[in-house]
Amino acid sequence: MKAIQLVAHGPPGKFELRDVPDPQPGPGEVVVQVQSCGLNHLDLWLEEAGLPIPVKLPRTPGGEIAGKIVEIGSAAVPEASQRDAQLRQGYDGRAGAPRWNVGDAVAVQSNLFCGECEFCRRGEDSVCLRSEILGVQRDGGFAEKVVVPARALVRLPESVDFDTSAALTLAGSTAMHMLTNRAQVRAGDWVLAIGGASGVGSAAIQIARHLGARVISTGSTEAKRALARQLGAEFVLDPNDANWPAEIRKITNKHGVDLVVEHVGGEVLLKCFECLARDGTIVTCGATAGREVTLNLWPLFVKQHRLIGSYGRNRADLETTLEWAAAGKLKPVIDSIFPLDQTAAAFAMLRSRRVLGKVLVEPFKT
Ligand SMILES: [Zn+2]
Repeated sequence: MKAIQLVAHGPPGKFELRDVPDPQPGPGEVVVQVQSCGLNHLDLWLEEAGLPIPVKLPRTPGGEIAGKIVEIGSAAVPEASQRDAQLRQGYDGRAGAPRWNVGDAVAVQSNLFCGECEFCRRGEDSVCLRSEILGVQRDGGFAEKVVVPARALVRLPESVDFDTSAALTLAGSTAMHMLTNRAQVRAGDWVLAIGGASGVGSAAIQIARHLGARVISTGSTEAKRALARQLGAEFVLDPNDANWPAEIRKITNKHGVDLVVEHVGGEVLLKCFECLARDGTIVTCGATAGREVTLNLWPLFVKQHRLIGSYGRNRADLETTLEWAAAGKLKPVIDSIFPLDQTAAAFAMLRSRRVLGKVLVEPFKT
């Protein structure tokens, strides 16, 4: 099969389109033919060796995968470990536990989780003790096929196409996890969604609106601000204007925002505290602008602020995201779609920060 491999770190990294052996499924694994795969900032970190995780090259990146099952691995195991095998396959006997067939359309939970640790057992697979990132620690979806554990699969609702799935699976479910698991939105809350044209930001605006919140967002260009407004943000501010936190105080009649969905880090995170209402919460899932900040703890405890980390998603968040997409409550924003042999150009485009929404790769696009 054909696969893109990162052979040297950058930026720009050196990518090669190579013929590689077809992946073989082990017990409890399936092979998915990739129909569409989304790019994320995580891929850029992989490209530039910017992850605090050792990575072996060559590596096929890509974690936001939608496709069709083409092969199912053997589940043949000794009697004694039958139940373990069932768990590993996601056939754990729960009502509705999925059984998979060749031809099924699926999305993949890219935080590959063990299914057995204390966190996985209670459905919090985002904090699995033995998680691996698909497309970072093992080969991902910028290829014609990928092998993944069956337990990582989520069935695509009939009305959700592969591109919609690939545009929402990672960033959309990250926002779902932030807004419905790590933090809770009350109807009437003011929510600030940072970067309304980004993958997480564009989903966060829509989710917060559906939960009854009033949404403020940010965008560094007029096109990005227009997109954020179109998605449902009532007010969209330019983060290049140093006074944007003061503007939020004005908009909210000095109250501030009750919840911030943050994924930029650095100075932006600190500015978010200036916008935050008393008893307010910042939930953060990224740090593209800086991983280290100096935080003044006095206002943090006096105003009873909360700063909450959020990592990836649980499989349940992915299911909810796809259900919302099927119901038309969550729409993907797709900037552009590249064929597999132009994956390097797709990376360059995302790195340029001129994209509105998602950049996707379709391995079978000609
Ligand atoms: Zn686990």
